[in-house]
Formats: sequence, C-alpha cells, structure tokens
Amino acid sequence: MAFEIKSVGIIGAGQMGNGIAHVCALAGYDVVLNDLEIDRVKSGLATINGNMVRQVAKGLYSEDDKQSALTRIRGTDQTTDLADVDLLIEAAVEKEEVKRKIFATVCPFLKPETILATNTSSISITRLAASTDRPERFIGIHFMNPVPLMQLVELVRGIATEDETFELAKLFVTRLGKTYAVAEDFPAFMVNRILLPMINEAIYTLYEGVGSVDAIDTAMRLGANHPMGPLQLADFIGLDTCLSIMQVLHEGLADSKYRPCPLLVKYVEAGWLGRKTQRGFYDYR
Ligand code: NAD
Repeated sequence: MAFEIKSVGIIGAGQMGNGIAHVCALAGYDVVLNDLEIDRVKSGLATINGNMVRQVAKGLYSEDDKQSALTRIRGTDQTTDLADVDLLIEAAVEKEEVKRKIFATVCPFLKPETILATNTSSISITRLAASTDRPERFIGIHFMNPVPLMQLVELVRGIATEDETFELAKLFVTRLGKTYAVAEDFPAFMVNRILLPMINEAIYTLYEGVGSVDAIDTAMRLGANHPMGPLQLADFIGLDTCLSIMQVLHEGLADSKYRPCPLLVKYVEAGWLGRKTQRGFYDYR
C-alpha cells in the first residue's frame, strides 16, 4: 500500500466536523476545515480551542501538544483549499442532495488518489459513492458524538469500495486512537439502527402523554442505567439529524415501525433542533 494519508480535509465545521478536525490534528494530521461561511468556520475553531483547553486542564496532554495541534488546522470557506488533501471527510448536514452536491463540487479538483469519506449517520454509502468519480475510493467513516470523547467509529464499505481504501480507513481510525466496528451498508448501519428507534419511541412516549420529559429521561437513566436520557441525547444529536435518520430508516426498510414521531417532525418544523439552537426537549437559553 504505497499511498499514505497525511492530510485530511473536512467539509462542515458543525459539531461533528469540528470534533473530527480536533482528533485528526491531535493525531498529527494536517487539517483543512471548511464550511459555507467563515463565521461557521470560526465558531468551529473556537469550539476546538475550548475543548482542547478543557482536555489540557484534565491533564490528557500538554499545552505544547495543544498549540501544535491547533497550528495544524487551517479553517477556510473556500472549497478549493481542499485540493491537496489525501482524505476528504464530508460532515455536512444529513441530507443526501447536499452531500451529493458537495462531492460533485470538490471531486473535479481533488487528486485522483484522494480518498473520499462521509460521516453520514444513515445514508447509503453505495449510492453516495456512485454519485462520485471514484466509488472504489469512497467509504463511510462514521464518528460518534462528541468525537473527542467517543471511542467508536463505524466503518462502512460501499459495494464498490476497494480493499486499499478499507485498509487505509482502518489505519486512519487506529492512528486516531479509536476503535472501529465494521458495518454493512444498510440504512443507519448499526449504532443508529438500534439507537434511533429507541429515541423515536421515547418521543412517542412523550407525545402520548405517558410521561414528562424529566420522567422519561429519569426512567431510562436510573431504570436502564443509560448515562443520559433519550430525550436529552436527542437534543445533543440534533433533532434535525434524528428526523433525517428516522426518515432514512422508514424509507429504506419500508417498515411502519420506523415512522418518525409527529412530535419530532413538529419540533424540527419549529426550528427547535436541540442544544445547537438552544431549544429542543430542554431549554438551553
Ligand atoms: P451540524 O448541523 O452541527 O453541522 C453541519 C455543518 O455543515 C454546518 O456548520 C453547516 O453550515 C455545514 N454545511 C452544510 N452544507 C454545507 C456545504 N455545502 N459545504 C460546507 N459545509 C456545509 O451537524 P452535525 O451534527 O455536525 O452532523 C454532520 C453530519 O454528521 C451529518 O451527516 C450527521 O448525520 C452526522 N453525524 C451526526 C452525529 C450527531 O450526533 N450529531 C453523529 C454522527 C454523525
């Protein structure tokens, strides 16, 4: 395997994109972090800085390590700045048409050997890969939220993903100090196939008046030993992302048991997307 990943481009500087940039820079990769607007890039960089300050205070690494990691990250609102990266990870919103458009925009100026990856939570890797000029160098690298803290990464091969791409992705995840689990390319893969129906059911439980927000979350924290209640977790994931994943499960598996709860739909329509908009099942203002 002659090709080596030394630099990583990330599209989307939201909660996942900035977390991925954070762990890549700490692992010694040169990082280009891109978003649509420079203010979003700056906000992503500020989040990385704040999270690193906290990790240094906890003694996880030194101030020098933090400084050199931060100098390895370049923020930009210009997609052409991604031209030289060895691995491009798309971490924009969970909308298939947005992801397709992103790959269509960047592929023409990337090196032919650049590996393409998506952090999608649920969308078909095979379908996204097929929309690019290099389906054999395309793979799902699905990080968990919050990226700096969560150990797991799901690796998902599309039908055309070649062995070299898979091996390079495994090396990359291992160098980040994370553990990978390999999932087949089915809607929402493994973690979200199991997790999101539980969250959706918690929202139905609220919708039907079985319990209050506090009661449902307390029940699952203390009754099932979950570290966080499902409604709080939904707020952390983002209710728009939760809805998109349920829609992918519902359409992809054609089973009414995955029907998104109408209350989830209503919250997203109201713009109540959870912690990132200061309001979801909880009020963060
Ligand atoms: P987010 O809303 O926090 O961030 C998305 C970012 O993408 C925003 O800053 C937005 O401006 C940017 N963006 C949108 N279109 C773009 C474009 N064309 N070019 C560049 N940037 C663009 O969302 P997130 O929670 O970070 O989720 C991102 C992806 O990661 C989604 O596919 C999601 O399913 C996946 N994911 C999310 C979680 C989670 O818990 N939130 C976990 C694993 C994977």
